[in-house]
Amino acid sequence: MSVPKIKTLKIDGSTGEGGGQIIRTALSLSMLTSIPIEITNIRAGRAKSGLMRQHLVCVQAAQQISNASVTGAHLGSTALSFTPNSIKSGDYSFDIGSAGSTTLVLQTLLPALLFTNTDSSAQSTVTIRGGTHNPLAPTSDFLQQAFIPALTKLGMQVDIECLQAGFAPIGGGIVKATIPPFLRRADSLPFKLIERGELMSVELVASVLNLEYDIGKRELASAQAVLVEAGIDDTLITTRCNKLLGIGEGNTCYAIVTHKVNGQYHPEVFTLLGEKRASAEKMGSRLAGLIKRYLFKTDALMDEYLTDQLLLPLALSGGGEFTARIISQHTETQAWLIEQFLPVEIKFETIDEQRTLVRIVD
Ligand code: AMP
Repeated sequence: MSVPKIKTLKIDGSTGEGGGQIIRTALSLSMLTSIPIEITNIRAGRAKSGLMRQHLVCVQAAQQISNASVTGAHLGSTALSFTPNSIKSGDYSFDIGSAGSTTLVLQTLLPALLFTNTDSSAQSTVTIRGGTHNPLAPTSDFLQQAFIPALTKLGMQVDIECLQAGFAPIGGGIVKATIPPFLRRADSLPFKLIERGELMSVELVASVLNLEYDIGKRELASAQAVLVEAGIDDTLITTRCNKLLGIGEGNTCYAIVTHKVNGQYHPEVFTLLGEKRASAEKMGSRLAGLIKRYLFKTDALMDEYLTDQLLLPLALSGGGEFTARIISQHTETQAWLIEQFLPVEIKFETIDEQRTLVRIVD
């Protein structure tokens, strides 16, 4: 008796945001649902369309993890097909071969390895070499301090280490994730982050890779001064300056802003990468600007990036609701794509000018 063939889902990669996220999310969902996909117009919304190294490694890594049949997996490709088999947990290692974002490759593989259907007791590890601090992507700090704590609330116990930092243009960073299979606990709380409670802390962190420590110190001093001037309680602010390990040079500063919400903590992370033309003082005041916008211009809990990144984990784990400061085109595109694969509804309900209620309903 022949097994009925699952219909291929055709995806136009130019839809909405038209970026790499469509490929990554489509790969994740294809692996999870076993639905074969054909993607055309890959990254048509970007100046340089087609598969770049980071996206190609996403395809190759997904192929390896799910033993998929693939066509069109080459640099610059604007169309590909992907037919997955079963997902296998294991110890995987991938090298982007450039400063391309390791965190985006990791986010592509995480859902599949969390929901691996071959051996529910086996945990996986994934080690990826490339960039850990890239513009237009979550940094490894963002994953560790914002994305992972949100996954933990959903019962997903992922651990991420940044073994070596990697900045453009050299890269050379290494992230390693340990991923036990997701087991939904009967007593897990519904994911509901609506009203901000008390502001608990504002942690300012600056890190330098083979650059003067003083750069980080000045960024922190500048950010702190702007925040205090804006009336934020000085006793809530802490500062920390780190030296990173790795090759090449780089600088990042970020803030972890934590609120108490229904007895839980919600950390939001705001990240900047050092730029040759911007002084440390300028970076610090820009970072403070991001924090002020979040604290004073909205009552929403999620900021822009966590909003698009949480839709898929929520859709896979029973849904939930949260308030978002802004619904970006990334978020709209992500919602559209998820609804192509899964029987969920993702709703955006405007509460007021600076808050939208995002509901993911099973
Ligand atoms: P794409 O542009 O389609 O490759 O997708 C970029 C992804 O990176 C999206 O999921 C964004 O939420 C995420 N992202 C971009 N900038 C940041 C940032 N500064 N902090 C955290 N995540 C980011």
